[in-house]
Amino acid sequence: MKQENWARAEDVKICNICGKMIIGEYDYTLTKRKSKIYFHKGMKCGRSTEKA
Ligand SMILES: [Zn+2]
Repeated sequence: MKQENWARAEDVKICNICGKMIIGEYDYTLTKRKSKIYFHKGMKCGRSTEKA
């Protein structure tokens, strides 16, 4: 898959679980440094035992 058509770089979020870009819905948590860590919505990618 080509990645040249991704939207604005500032809007791209990287999932902290799987390391992939998050397209669409996401969850996030705030760190003590007030930066945000993003996850795929529902952290689905972290549940390896679940089938999509
Ligand atoms: Zn993920």
